[in-house]
Amino acid sequence: MAVDRLFPTEEGAELVSLVREIAQTELAPHAAADEAAGRFPRDSFGMLGEVGMLGLPYPEEYGGTGQPYEVYLQALEEVAAVWMTVGVGVSVHVMASYAMAEFGTAEQRATYLPEMVGGRLLGAYALSEAQAGSDISAMTMRAKHADHGYELNGAKAWTTHGSYADFYTTFARTGDDPREGVSCFHVPGNAPGLTFGSPEHKMGLNASPTTALYFDAVPIDDSRRIGDEGQGARIALSALDSGRLGIAACATGLAQAALDLAADYAKQREQFGQAIAEFQGLRFLLAEMAASVDSARATYLMAARKRDAGRPFSRDAAVAKLIASDAAMKVTTDAVQVLGGYGYTRDYPAERYMREAKVTQIFEGTNQIQRLVIARQLLKYPLK
Ligand SMILES: Cc1cc2nc3c(=O)[nH]c(=O)nc-3n(C[C@H](O)[C@H](O)[C@H](O)COP(=O)(O)OP(=O)(O)OC[C@H]3O[C@@H](n4cnc5c(N)ncnc54)[C@H](O)[C@@H]3O)c2cc1C
Repeated sequence: MAVDRLFPTEEGAELVSLVREIAQTELAPHAAADEAAGRFPRDSFGMLGEVGMLGLPYPEEYGGTGQPYEVYLQALEEVAAVWMTVGVGVSVHVMASYAMAEFGTAEQRATYLPEMVGGRLLGAYALSEAQAGSDISAMTMRAKHADHGYELNGAKAWTTHGSYADFYTTFARTGDDPREGVSCFHVPGNAPGLTFGSPEHKMGLNASPTTALYFDAVPIDDSRRIGDEGQGARIALSALDSGRLGIAACATGLAQAALDLAADYAKQREQFGQAIAEFQGLRFLLAEMAASVDSARATYLMAARKRDAGRPFSRDAAVAKLIASDAAMKVTTDAVQVLGGYGYTRDYPAERYMREAKVTQIFEGTNQIQRLVIARQLLKYPLK
């Protein structure tokens, strides 16, 4: 069902409508088969770059369209509603590009951003490590000074687009201080000494590759350090604030898809001589699902509007990620219920939606970590 959306401009409305059409014609036909086969749709990112999806939030001088975040996120929601792997992939790519766009030098931006924005270079964001997930201050990966700039040694875990990405926005220690000792690097996918683990066998998002990265004396030129030495933790957290809005929009799109499926099914399926949609017990369930989807959309849009207005939005992004991912988990689970036994089979996408929803409560900061962010700002404890 088309969502009744509000946009700041007519141009924003047209762009989102274009993305929706492209998602339905170009992505939807492949989603189920590629998920079942675990086939990463690398070409879709080039196509989305060409039509301008990847450049929506980036300036025109680098090939973007300079749209407000509230427009970009609603377009992203339309992509995720059709295929979560691609929605999450777009969000990760845009987050990986963010470090360069916000903290890169003019020369770095001119060199790399047009290729990122146009989808010719696919990005990945390498922050987590096996022993440093929620607690990124436990990071051990090192970047030591070498003749050409730096040499990177260590490993990253859980990298979305691992082995497929053309660049890895990578965080490594240049000092021992938990916060001030981290720096950020633009690492090419074909850097010597960079190798990849086998893809993780996941509950969902099976077409989205997730691997470990291994760095064995990977040489990185000075010109590929993003921001100042020691600025990495700030860059990582700032990227995550925007990235969490992307995940909130994807979760909302996924929940919308599950709601649409359940509502359509309830109108078709008959029991006791009438459509199951006629039973008040089921109507209330569908109404609650719809209210959850609307609440998720409202919270991410509020956070996006604050971001667009140049106001602090870190707490709002945490609220949006928490509310939208919990909504996705609840709504997709309820969609399986509405479809009854058929919902539990692979004949319908409800079970896939439910499996895909779970990870939105885990990545880019678990929902326990979102609660910590919200409580910290509420109670005004200094950030540790
Ligand atoms: C499919 C997938 C894709 C991913 N993609 C990427 C990626 O592209 N790049 C990247 O860098 N990372 C990525 N990740 C990693 C992801 O961000 C981490 O899994 C996540 O941050 C949690 O870290 P962890 O798995 O080590 O869990 P842990 O940190 O070990 O947490 C385990 C449990 O303890 C809880 N917990 C931890 N600390 C606290 C606390 N202080 N208070 C209360 N509860 C707490 C957590 O909420 C969780 O329930 C991905 C993960 C998955 C599953």
